[in-house]
Amino acid sequence: MKILQLPSGKAIPILGQGTWRMGERASQKQAEINALRLGLDLAMTLIDTAEMYGEGGAEKVVAEAISGRREEVYLVSKFYPFNASYEGAIKACDRSLSRLKTDYLDLYLLHWRGSIPLSETLEALQHLKQAGKILDYGVSNFDTDDMEEAESLPGGQKIVTNQVLYNLKRRGIEWDLLPWCKKRNIPIMAYSPVEQRAFVNNSKLEELATKHNATSTQIALSWLLHQDNVISIPKATNPQHVRENRAALDIKLTEEDFKIIDRTFKPPSRKMGLAMR
Ligand code: NAP
Repeated sequence: MKILQLPSGKAIPILGQGTWRMGERASQKQAEINALRLGLDLAMTLIDTAEMYGEGGAEKVVAEAISGRREEVYLVSKFYPFNASYEGAIKACDRSLSRLKTDYLDLYLLHWRGSIPLSETLEALQHLKQAGKILDYGVSNFDTDDMEEAESLPGGQKIVTNQVLYNLKRRGIEWDLLPWCKKRNIPIMAYSPVEQRAFVNNSKLEELATKHNATSTQIALSWLLHQDNVISIPKATNPQHVRENRAALDIKLTEEDFKIIDRTFKPPSRKMGLAMR
């Protein structure tokens, strides 16, 4: 697995596994655990979850998937903006740790900005780090101005990632946020990297897919995996999707492929508001 180095010096895999929509249906639980374990077997050891997913249900699924394998895993969770006060974030972290049956998170993210002052949230995150409950912290759904504000606050310079919506159909961040982060060696964690199945049988990507003996979804993911400073976290419960996502790492796109892709999925030509789910 290729890795990136975070500003903290820690290593993070560039391809992981998402868990949104997991932990919502009991009938799917075993399939979700199996998929995550298969992903670990295939070296996709970064698992991204959140207290929001299944209202704690996804974290419980993750706990079973990583049982006995905690040391292999780069574990990320996120807390709600309404839990972003000093006390709130500390309590939310404790609840996540308890559901995940672990005593530390590799990375803890503010899920999106709310009304609680960022300075207070950063104070809580620094406390959690000092206490050893999290190894690093970051943010999610922050646009460039949010990142600038965070950077100006105590503890803001220790933010190691920003998890945002980024894929071939959502390239707005290339205008300013991506370069801003790259300049500071802060990797972007691309969520919804396969745009929730929107690239399946995409006629524009089919030609490249045929050329690379891959699927159109794999081409879309491979394009992200070729980007500097970007981590991708596709969610897959179907084991075939898990395998295909891992195999996307082995696809080598050419300069010509990139040109074809850019003609269809155009990079931004102006500042765009940050896209969010
Ligand atoms: P996604 O990963 O782009 O898409 C997931 C969907 O695509 C699932 O229906 C999955 O099907 C399917 N899929 C996965 N791999 C595939 C493949 N190789 N071929 C065809 N279909 C494939 O969307 P996402 O779940 O929204 O985003 C990924 C993760 O990012 C989330 O799970 C979550 O951890 C994180 N996220 C964060 C935020 C945030 O605000 N920070 C927002 C959204 C998502 P199966 O499940 O049936 O395999």
